[in-house]
Amino acid sequence: MSKIRILDNITIQKIAAGEVIERPSSIVKELVENSLDAGADNITIEIKDGGKSYIRVTDNGDGIDGDDLSLAFMRHSTSKLSKAEDLYKIKSLGFRGEALASISHVSRVEVMTKTKDALGGVNALIEEGKILSQESIGCPKGTTMIVRDLFYNIPVRKDFLKSDLTESNQVSDIVYKVALGSLKTSFKFIKDNKIILNTSKNNNMKSHIYSILGKDFSKNLTEINFEENGVHVYGYISNNKLYRSNRSHQYIYINGRYVVDKSLSSVIENHYKSTIPLNRFPCFIIFLDLDPSNIDVNIHPTKQEIKFANETQVMEVMNKGIKEVLYPSLSIPSMDFKI
Ligand code: ADP
Ligand code: MG
Repeated sequence: MSKIRILDNITIQKIAAGEVIERPSSIVKELVENSLDAGADNITIEIKDGGKSYIRVTDNGDGIDGDDLSLAFMRHSTSKLSKAEDLYKIKSLGFRGEALASISHVSRVEVMTKTKDALGGVNALIEEGKILSQESIGCPKGTTMIVRDLFYNIPVRKDFLKSDLTESNQVSDIVYKVALGSLKTSFKFIKDNKIILNTSKNNNMKSHIYSILGKDFSKNLTEINFEENGVHVYGYISNNKLYRSNRSHQYIYINGRYVVDKSLSSVIENHYKSTIPLNRFPCFIIFLDLDPSNIDVNIHPTKQEIKFANETQVMEVMNKGIKEVLYPSLSIPSMDFKI
């Protein structure tokens, strides 16, 4: 008998789900990104017990057609991409068609959704990627996803989760990142029945930052706005009075997507070396907009890392943008660093 065999479908699905869904915060990230992709401008996130027992994300976006529900929970099914070339023109946050499938293989999902044109909405229960029940309900346009009992069917993964406090802090972290990056959306975040964050739609980035990170933070920021070679960098950077002992307040969004990019962070950090104490980190909320065909967002399942076609050029634009405003704001001579 052959030693090699093809895994059964449930095992394959659980392995794949593990790549995208590590903890409650991964679910919140995927659900909120789906809400934003659906054009929602009002999103409520609620969690209980650090998100381990209960996560709810409600939006007022486009909704899902009842006939499409089972497709939405299948792997590699998406409304955001139709052919390989589209991968290099991505404007949406999602495109891999994996999140709902993955979530439904590691938890019990309930969805309520209604599109603009549908007469009524639908309510469905989904487990292991399959619709257990689906019925008509009355509900407003938009989608509510409820995710219960994370990893109920993968005890090992459940054991790896941290305390409720740690997990809920991770969820807060994601909510703050997404909320900061979405000026035109109001967010409400409820943790164990307590409202933690409640923002309104805003036209002004500084007051948006103020409403999320507070007065002390926002009063120590300098605006940056620089464009060269089709790369536009804008947002806010801290002065020499605002810094942290870690990189928790460094936010970079590329074409609206929150990303972690050590090279770009270090371009910014270099300029603070002589102005803030040793082992302290500047804070910033920076947006970089560039032609989507010059970046590859498909290098990691969680899409938090991206690749640039010309990284040096992007770093150079960031460098110039920082230099232009930081030194004048601190009234000190400008310094140069090798990119
Ligand atoms: P992706 O976001 O990569 O397309 P998902 O598995 O996250 O994959 O979602 C599958 C599809 O389900 C989406 O392409 C979208 O059409 C639909 N969908 C998911 N969440 C929502 C939502 N909140 N509102 C409207 N449609 C949604
Ligand atoms: Mg998605």
